[in-house]
Amino acid sequence: MTTPPPPVTEPDPSALTCPGDKAGPCAVCRRKTHRYGPGGRPLCAWCMSAARDRWGPGVHYDSARP
Ligand SMILES: [Zn+2]
Repeated sequence: MTTPPPPVTEPDPSALTCPGDKAGPCAVCRRKTHRYGPGGRPLCAWCMSAARDRWGPGVHYDSARP
């Protein structure tokens, strides 16, 4: 990771491209992200990459509970 994450008031880019009803808060930083439905994740892109750094590419979502 070379780019620092933007302030949590900035929505994740995925939140801007998904239907509004699929957007929700990141489980870690509460940033608005594409959380629900196909392609949705409980974490925003920045928290997800931090989780990958920590746990490797095989990280499972159930390891990322708040
Ligand atoms: Zn986050």
